[in-house]
Amino acid sequence: MRAEIIAIGDELTSGERLDTNTQWLAKQLTGVGVEVMFHTTVGDDMAANVDVFRTAIGRADVIVTTGGLGPTADDLTRDALAEALGVELVCDRASLEHIRNLFESRGRQMPERNEQQAYFPAGTAAIRNPNGTAPGIHAQVAKTGTGVCHLFALPGVPAEMHEMYAQCVAPAVASLDGEPRVIRHRTIKVFGPGESQLESMLPDLIRRGREPRVGITASAATLTLRITAAAADEATCMAVMEPTAQQIYEAVGRFIFGEGDIDMHHAVLELLAKRGETLATHECFPRGLIAGWLAADDIGRRGFVGGRVSPEVDDVVAAAQEVRKAFAATHGLSVGPGDESGEVEVAVAVGDNVVTERFKLGGHVAVVGPRIAKCALNLLRLNLV
Ligand code: ATP
Repeated sequence: MRAEIIAIGDELTSGERLDTNTQWLAKQLTGVGVEVMFHTTVGDDMAANVDVFRTAIGRADVIVTTGGLGPTADDLTRDALAEALGVELVCDRASLEHIRNLFESRGRQMPERNEQQAYFPAGTAAIRNPNGTAPGIHAQVAKTGTGVCHLFALPGVPAEMHEMYAQCVAPAVASLDGEPRVIRHRTIKVFGPGESQLESMLPDLIRRGREPRVGITASAATLTLRITAAAADEATCMAVMEPTAQQIYEAVGRFIFGEGDIDMHHAVLELLAKRGETLATHECFPRGLIAGWLAADDIGRRGFVGGRVSPEVDDVVAAAQEVRKAFAATHGLSVGPGDESGEVEVAVAVGDNVVTERFKLGGHVAVVGPRIAKCALNLLRLNLV
């Protein structure tokens, strides 16, 4: 089943408001095995809305739209849908009653313009909105040769939309496809190799059509391998993904620092906690970024015991030892300033032993700091495992 999500409103296309409805809906649909193929955002324009609806009906089996169901002149969803379907708008008495009662329960008389919210494209059904005046619309459109397309139009207000999705759309979508399916992911975090280098280490895994599917994404020097499986239940998904995860661990184990929602500094803090050890830092570059990360996420306040920031340092190795002793830590991590060769020296002191490595600076100013911070933490991590 292919789905399309349509977010409607000038405030979205103008960039004034972030479209969080689409993200939420995409997660819901993907979670029950519906493949979301298209996200469309369209402003409050009649011709554009009609066009978008027709296109979506032509290419998707399930369409969920949000926004444009209000009572004001710029709320066009029901008119645009009627035009796209080639039908008239007709009044639904039960919806009109519901809207009237809602106003009465709030001690107000229903303004005339709200009456239009009880009009629906002929042949479609109302989706009850327990929390607002805008009912949703469920249209079933027969497609020549390719079955029926289900379109659900929901209001833009996230809280109203979420409840209507759960009460009406989710059960309807679940009943469309015979086999109940869930989709689950497993994300493995990798640091060290570049994206193409990682791909070449896993030659057979990152290929189209493979089951379970494996994808690579890169963000701020961290690579994420994402395994995706679809099956009847969660336990089967996890079992299907396990052999692939094992293959990944065998091929790139040393570069893996964790799974799920984890960053390099979390991995270091976890290892320190497990070993009952502590860390102090001295940063010339990137000027306290490492200390900031560790301080913010050291929940037990036991692993990261202190840090110094200075623009220069005479000796990076000596600084690692000094800061370790000054804070009575088991480990000292020191990052020097960048030098003329475009490199930065990192030292990890454990007892009287010191390990050093030089890393290349370079890249955009916004990513070089986090990258060097992760390189330094990774050097420490490799000395903790
Ligand atoms: P209502 O009748 O309640 O106004 P509506 O269907 O007309 O419902 P809109 O007027 O388009 O919805 O949007 C109402 C509010 O919902 C917006 O002002 C905005 O706060 C929020 N909203 C709309 N669309 C989105 C979206 N895609 N993501 C996040 N918030 C949204």
